[in-house]
Amino acid sequence: MTDTYKRAVFTAPGQIRFDEVPIPEPGPRQALVKVKACALCTWEQRMYSGEEHFYPLAGGHEVSGELIKLGEQVYTDAKIGDRVMASTLTRCGYCESCRRGMDNICDNSRKSFRDTDVPGPAGLAEYVLLEDYQLYKADNAAPFEEICLTEPLACVVRSVRKARVERADTVVVIGAGVMGMLHVELLKQSGARVIVSEINPERAAFAKAHGAYAVINPAEAPFVDQVMALTGGRGADVLFAAVSVAQAVEQAIDAAAKGGRIHVYASIHPRGTNISIDPNPFHGKEIVLTGTMSQDKEDVLEAVRMISWGLIDLKPFVSLVLPFEKLEEGLQAAMQPTTYRVVVTM
Ligand SMILES: [Zn+2]
Ligand SMILES: [Zn+2]
Repeated sequence: MTDTYKRAVFTAPGQIRFDEVPIPEPGPRQALVKVKACALCTWEQRMYSGEEHFYPLAGGHEVSGELIKLGEQVYTDAKIGDRVMASTLTRCGYCESCRRGMDNICDNSRKSFRDTDVPGPAGLAEYVLLEDYQLYKADNAAPFEEICLTEPLACVVRSVRKARVERADTVVVIGAGVMGMLHVELLKQSGARVIVSEINPERAAFAKAHGAYAVINPAEAPFVDQVMALTGGRGADVLFAAVSVAQAVEQAIDAAAKGGRIHVYASIHPRGTNISIDPNPFHGKEIVLTGTMSQDKEDVLEAVRMISWGLIDLKPFVSLVLPFEKLEEGLQAAMQPTTYRVVVTM
């Protein structure tokens, strides 16, 4: 075993540096994982394009790997050599949010809890050092390329759970990117009828082929009119905005049924974009405007079990698998609208 490993660092728009850094020794309540796969999320894509800029950043937060070494006092059911999912999000466990059951938005999630030279989740690397609570055992027969999708799936588990979707609800998913399509998958499992709104014809065809009841194109006719036509003029019970466009939220409010929920799943860009809302439907139709971010520890457990037990097929959402060395090629491919997840393997 060499005593250094390769780690990718985003240093400027369009620039990635590969560092050789010493393999760390796990201290008390820490675990060392040999990374096997890391998926390239929109956040890493934005760091690469320069749309988000927290340089330097050791990116990579959708991580799977093999458990290599445990420090003292780690109480886990994973054994050395087992396949694991690394939940790289920091959950301090003692802030107000963590103590109120919202460890997905831990007050200290952006703070460093380890002595690191470069901040970030650091999953785009050959090894990753974890705190014990960040380690989730996966099934040893599950592919690493799918285990690494636990993080995005867990975000959608949370989203669908918090939106209180019920059987035979009519639900609209705005945007058939990978996150929108993971919503479609979970909503089908919930027994909902799913309408997808998508402009891109290839994504629309993909949504149709993967179980959408109807696919509408808001560029062809007004979004609200199309939703009303498909729901007998009632509107949708739940609408998920899985695109970064503020206007989608505005339109979703107009297309909600009485008692409906509008769920802002995706962050809106550019940040600070405002929408104008008529407050009357909140009163007259008792609609709810809400949203979710990331995932709590329960959502991660549910997602890793779904993948481990074959309760969801994620193969259609992995568009491309490339070796770690081809990370930049992978990021460029991931930014294409018709590409779903790109995974790099170590
Ligand atoms: Zn992600
Ligand atoms: Zn916290």
